[in-house]
Amino acid sequence: MYAKRMKRLGTETAFDVLAKAKKLEAKGVDVVHLEIGEPDFDTPANITQAAIDALRQGWTHYNPSPGLPEFRAEIAQFITKDRGIKVAPENVVITPGAKPILFFSALAILEEGDEAIYPNPGFPIYESVIRFFGARAVPVRLREENDFGLDIKELKEKITSRTRMIILNSPQNPTGGVLKREQLGEIADLVRKKNLFILSDEIYCKILYEGEHVSIASFPGMQEKTVILDGYSKTYAMTGWRLGYGVMNETLAKHVARLQTNCTSCTCSFTQRAGIAGITGPQDDSIKMVREFKKRRDIVVRGLCSIKGVSCKTPRGAFYVFPNVKATGLECEELASRLLEEKGVALLAGTAFGKYGKGYLRLSYANSIENINKGLGRMKEFIEKL
Ligand code: PLP
Repeated sequence: MYAKRMKRLGTETAFDVLAKAKKLEAKGVDVVHLEIGEPDFDTPANITQAAIDALRQGWTHYNPSPGLPEFRAEIAQFITKDRGIKVAPENVVITPGAKPILFFSALAILEEGDEAIYPNPGFPIYESVIRFFGARAVPVRLREENDFGLDIKELKEKITSRTRMIILNSPQNPTGGVLKREQLGEIADLVRKKNLFILSDEIYCKILYEGEHVSIASFPGMQEKTVILDGYSKTYAMTGWRLGYGVMNETLAKHVARLQTNCTSCTCSFTQRAGIAGITGPQDDSIKMVREFKKRRDIVVRGLCSIKGVSCKTPRGAFYVFPNVKATGLECEELASRLLEEKGVALLAGTAFGKYGKGYLRLSYANSIENINKGLGRMKEFIEKL
């Protein structure tokens, strides 16, 4: 009755857990939300005002599939400065959220039977879309002992003549791991001469607590074969606005724009006008938000490490922690579901991010310090009684 490919399409467990948590809340249960990956801050006021102004000015019609020319030009200028590469407006495609950049570029690049390498544990949509398009999803394991960075030797072993895409994500969801300049340089050396694309998911690039963000596109010979995925969801607390973009070579940009014509036609016009205000205006709100996340990160790591049976690395970016819960004696799935049902703490099992997430939990600390402390207290109570 339905297409067979639907069996290969995965999902994001965060949305399922959120729905379960909401049901419990409807029954009167007090739930601490540490499951969903979205900043709990308001969108900066100048961006909201720009959207209101744009609506009043009539930015309510279709616009070109790759995006408003003036917005593409601003993004090109911004990425040129921010990543140290030379980007033209023709390299930029604006999409409703950043996710379509992954979906459309994978659709444009991957043939059935091709291989695509992705980080595991990692954002679950990578594996989902690779498999959906009939390609082979090849996981490369991120290990706690490497601070959840990529092991270049392991990556090298996974690359074959069928590899057409390698997905990188730094800062990373769900571990908060960050790829260092040297590691990116080694990856660049490994793939420079190969006929493949790098999908560089940089959506958390501004949510970085230590060091610098480096894009693999900035290494010699890499820009042509890299798709940078970025957007407004995390940097400006705009998840519900749906505003993202990709930077890629001009030919791929045309393919991606054509896919957009066939799918959504274009990205909302007035949110794009607000997007211009976002990158050209003051960045204070975004910087303040990151400062606050850093405080929470330290609280959450300290709190988790104080629980018997739990250990947690200090992430360098994004707003997630990925504590090791193997010593609790419970499988991470059971631990996550019992924490929700018995203690009202909503979080995710590490396996929601792939098989190598076994033995871990993922907590998003995009919540108030008060709620984080409440959640940590409940976790401690539950785990230490096991
Ligand atoms: N990439 C990663 C690693 C993410 O965690 C997310 C959102 O959770 C996205 C991409 C998608 O971002 P957007 O909401 O802009 O589509």
